[in-house]
Amino acid sequence: MNFLESKILSDGVLKEGNILKVNGFLNHLIDVDIADQMAADFIRRFKGEHITKILTIEASGISIAMVTAFKLHVPMLFAKKTQSLNVDGEVYAADAYSFTHKTNNHIFVSSKYLSPDDKVLIIDDFLANGQALKALINIVEQAGAKVVGCGIAIEKGFQEGGALVRGLGYRVESIAIIDEMDYATQTIKFREQN
Ligand code: 5GP
Repeated sequence: MNFLESKILSDGVLKEGNILKVNGFLNHLIDVDIADQMAADFIRRFKGEHITKILTIEASGISIAMVTAFKLHVPMLFAKKTQSLNVDGEVYAADAYSFTHKTNNHIFVSSKYLSPDDKVLIIDDFLANGQALKALINIVEQAGAKVVGCGIAIEKGFQEGGALVRGLGYRVESIAIIDEMDYATQTIKFREQN
């Protein structure tokens, strides 16, 4: 069992509707040592790739994306969910429907922060149905940049996102993949990984 799987078992809480709450170390309070270990694991998995930028989506992807970018000495860009006066000019935008929150997120980044020579590692906290990841990939490709791969903290392997995005030909590396979780018994089964 790896460090993140252990942390999920000790601190994660299963909610009805196949939701895993990890507010105690990833989605609200941030455990910086776990974030540091996740960043190191992403870097190990994508070793040899010439990454020029990390892209994530606000808010929960930012902590792990930031530590990864810091270790690689590359900029970290996060897609925004709300249009504000702070972002002016042209944007690359995409829609991501969240089945978890039952809302559509119109996400965007300023076009000046992605260029065709960028090699982008996308990072996010959860992969469930894959809508957030697909929207981020779409944004990178609008810029003519290359998606090196996707680094995910927790993949819910029983939902379709992982198969969907891998099926499109993208490399997805998830530190913990949950194959089964049961609210009634509060049990979680992880997929074996090398
Ligand atoms: P997707 O677009 O892959 O369906 O969902 C990705 C997003 O939904 C994640 O960024 C995360 O915000 C949220 N999400 C999906 N499932 C869960 C879950 O079980 N727990 C938490 N905390 N967030 C989830």
